[in-house]
Amino acid sequence: MSEIVREEMDYDVVIVGAGPAGLSAAIRLKQLDPDLEVVVLEKGSEVGAHILSGAVLDTSGLNALIPDWKEKGAPITVPVKKDNFYFLGEGGGIRIPNVLMPPLMNNHGTYIVSMGNVCRWMAEQAEEMGVEIFPGMACSELVYGPEGEVKGVVAGEFGKNADGTPGPAYEPGMILNGKYVFLSEGVRGSLSKQVVAKYDLGQRSDVQKFGLGMKEIWEIDPDKHREGTVTHTMGWPLGSNAGGGSFIYHLDNNQVYVGFVVHLNYENPYVFPYMEFQRFKHHPMVAELLKGGNRVAYGARAISEGGWQSVPKTAFPGGALLGCSAGLVNVPRIKGNHNAMLSGKLAAERAHEAITAGRAGDTLEGYDSDLKAGPVGKDLKRVRNVKPLWSKFGLLASLTLGGFDMWTNNLLGLSLFGTIRHGKTDAAATGEAKNFKPIDYPKPDGKLSFDRLTNVSFSMTNHEESQPAHLHLADPGIPISINLPKFAEPAERYCPAGVYEVVREDGKEPRFQVNFQNCVHCKTCDIKDPSQNITWVTPQGGDGPNYPNM
Ligand SMILES: Cc1cc2nc3c(=O)[nH]c(=O)nc-3n(C[C@H](O)[C@H](O)[C@H](O)COP(=O)(O)OP(=O)(O)OC[C@H]3O[C@@H](n4cnc5c(N)ncnc54)[C@H](O)[C@@H]3O)c2cc1C
Repeated sequence: MSEIVREEMDYDVVIVGAGPAGLSAAIRLKQLDPDLEVVVLEKGSEVGAHILSGAVLDTSGLNALIPDWKEKGAPITVPVKKDNFYFLGEGGGIRIPNVLMPPLMNNHGTYIVSMGNVCRWMAEQAEEMGVEIFPGMACSELVYGPEGEVKGVVAGEFGKNADGTPGPAYEPGMILNGKYVFLSEGVRGSLSKQVVAKYDLGQRSDVQKFGLGMKEIWEIDPDKHREGTVTHTMGWPLGSNAGGGSFIYHLDNNQVYVGFVVHLNYENPYVFPYMEFQRFKHHPMVAELLKGGNRVAYGARAISEGGWQSVPKTAFPGGALLGCSAGLVNVPRIKGNHNAMLSGKLAAERAHEAITAGRAGDTLEGYDSDLKAGPVGKDLKRVRNVKPLWSKFGLLASLTLGGFDMWTNNLLGLSLFGTIRHGKTDAAATGEAKNFKPIDYPKPDGKLSFDRLTNVSFSMTNHEESQPAHLHLADPGIPISINLPKFAEPAERYCPAGVYEVVREDGKEPRFQVNFQNCVHCKTCDIKDPSQNITWVTPQGGDGPNYPNM
């Protein structure tokens, strides 16, 4: 293939990803200097198309960025009125009294929102200020400058053949250069992963940990709908197989977000996170709520769970990691949007300061220290031991010891445990199949629970079939030669979209099939494959899920 020639465009700041982190950075840059040239590139077909978080939003980030968001018509209108926390057994549950919950777990003052809609609204604010936003533009490569700094990205390459050669309608895309490049790709960003490795940004931090979050939107019987009610559960059906839990948020219009998170450090390779979620909906408490309702949308996304000790260095030559590309989720609160917004704001302030001083392409050290010493660092630090306590001692210990630790952090500002390390990566945590028994999951009934492919059709996922698969296997033989005999090829189960299949045909050797068209961009395969043989790279722009109001 002859060398690809691309047009180049220069900006002050190039932002990869129109989530809350990237959009906050864009807005803050324009607030500081309306003449700055700022571009935001988004792989989804529109802003919000890949935003899964149907969320309880702590507005502290937005208050700092756009204090008059209410007057400006932000789609943030359902305040949380009631907070429930249950420990579930198979047939019932115990409600944990709110007075026992550490104050930081309280959702008073937060809102139930569609983050997709919040991002759409933030994009409108940014565009009114002159930010250029290009949806449908996936950033597929980093471009480096003469000193080895990140100086830009390649975006908008379309029309490759399945073998990677240019097809008849091939578009090479463009190079967008920035004095600084912000990576706000969300969790397990494909370019972020490259810069973390290239600049060894994780040198001083612990490994990153993850969960897999799956979510459905339901329209339920108005008589059962309780606008503003937030319920979290732990316990059944996961038991000791894996950590995790559920969330049920009643937004407006008789809609409910029903979601389930499975921590990806589970050992038993037979665990099937998607089926755990489906089984959860048959719990009497949940089934009663959903009975007679309709599931109107489905989606899945990994969530970062490493917290404080896993945040890498967030500044690198020429750019910065924002939001969940740096892993800024407060795990017990399942909240990361506020920190994503705050990180965008801080990165913008440091980039503006640097550009005003005539700098470009250097490392924004001040951003890294602002992030860790400021409200984001404080938010993460006080809950830093909850996840490792859970991983090491299980659910009950994490409820008691983790709860105790959050109380001492809340009341005294200290932890008696110091900082507990996470240990292994989630991939390395996977145990060998010979040490576990397969789990018998009940078949979906088509009313409360659904098979994976039916549910994927409710994510409106679409990929141009003639392009190369965006799930790269370093060694295509490993799934069958190693993962199948050793781990019962867990990709068949950990993927919430049924992308990976071991095809078994009579008289033939099993073969591994990658149905990349189904991929909902959750990135779980990149995280959990025990052989670390799968790399998620971005497909062409506009492909992937098309989440409506999720
Ligand atoms: C199931 C679930 C429930 C959650 N619930 C809550 C909650 O209730 N409250 C809360 O505060 N947080 C919640 N979170 C966490 C929250 O979603 C994240 O903290 C937040 O989304 C991080 O924002 P971000 O901007 O860093 O990334 P994202 O919101 O993931 O946005 C990243 C954007 O970048 C785009 N992108 C990625 N790579 C590229 C590329 N190479 N080129 C172009 N575009 C790219 C993506 O398409 C996406 O639009 C939840 C997460 C999950 C998974």
